[in-house]
Amino acid sequence: MAKDYYEILGIKKDASKEDIKKAYRKLARKWHPDINPGNKDAEQRFKEISSAYDCLGNDEKRRLYDEFGEDGLRAGFDEKKAREYKQWGAYGQDSGYGREADYEGNAGGQGFGRYQSYEDIFGDLFGRGGVEGDFRTGAAGKGRDIEHEITIDLLSALKGFETELSLQKVGNCPLCNGSGIDPSSPMTKCRTCGGSGRVNVAQGPIQFTKPCPECHGHGSTGKPCPQCNGTGHVTVTERIKVTIPMGVKEGSRVRLTGKGEQGFNGGQPGDLYLIIHVKEHHFLKREGDDLFMDVPITVGEAVNGGSIEIPTIDGRVKIKVPPNSQSGQTLRLKGKGAMNMKTKKRGELMVKLIVKVPRSNDREMLDAAEKIDRFYKEDLRAGIVL
Ligand SMILES: [Zn+2]
Ligand SMILES: [Zn+2]
Repeated sequence: MAKDYYEILGIKKDASKEDIKKAYRKLARKWHPDINPGNKDAEQRFKEISSAYDCLGNDEKRRLYDEFGEDGLRAGFDEKKAREYKQWGAYGQDSGYGREADYEGNAGGQGFGRYQSYEDIFGDLFGRGGVEGDFRTGAAGKGRDIEHEITIDLLSALKGFETELSLQKVGNCPLCNGSGIDPSSPMTKCRTCGGSGRVNVAQGPIQFTKPCPECHGHGSTGKPCPQCNGTGHVTVTERIKVTIPMGVKEGSRVRLTGKGEQGFNGGQPGDLYLIIHVKEHHFLKREGDDLFMDVPITVGEAVNGGSIEIPTIDGRVKIKVPPNSQSGQTLRLKGKGAMNMKTKKRGELMVKLIVKVPRSNDREMLDAAEKIDRFYKEDLRAGIVL
């Protein structure tokens, strides 16, 4: 992990420009290689101090550093784009969603195709590399997968439904077709790379070349596209028809093939993953593929048994309460539970009977209750021993 520049200079995040200068001077004097000849440690310290001051001593660099960290200081860093993606929640997602994952499952493995760090954005500016193809150099590439979280109520999750979602996506700019270059402007030789299309990059002691960030390897460039400010991307709102299958549960992922970000140069679009969150229901609980609900019954229904009607996710059904049912007794209704999305089999609905006593001071009822009590054959609490 790179050291924090503020830490290196021993100052607080809100240090003033003057404080920063002072701290730098003091440390530089102490660790300057001329004062510490042959001291490797001092040399290293001096380097750190210098880069820290190089950044924090410059208002613009400091601002970028505060928001994006060291990545913000790299050459070619696109602040607008970085923020766009950051806002999208595309950053810092550690969760590796497998491309294989259909509605659910714990597929890990391959990354989600999302930006993992600014480095990737950076990579994007320089071309996406071999696998995905490169828009700038004309190769087709698959659009990125995106994910979107939705919260639904339990009944909708159990029954499944169709809906329309309004999604904001980053799409290719229609004016420049994603190139970032004003199509009406004349192309001129790129000044950054002198027309070669490549630039030298130093990373530590290693020197290598990368496609030129200015002309994206073409060697020539035009004016930035006015519609997308040269980024090649615009935010578009798309309405998408979505079918949420029966039985989704908390954390389920529903894949909508081809509804992710646009591909480039004729490449396929990415996929959209809907991450499902399910709100709790007042009467119904789901555990595994089984559903649980409490159903109140009367003293008469408990004693005599009878047919009662209860709501299920398939509509109202009649169930038989056996005579002498006890409060807390559970009736199982096979096939009335939640759909298991893998096996496509339904779980059970567990109906817990709760015997309710009428709230009344009516003389007749009190007498009736007293009469009922005569029929308990033994002390109910005799077996309760702690
Ligand atoms: Zn454009
Ligand atoms: Zn260039």
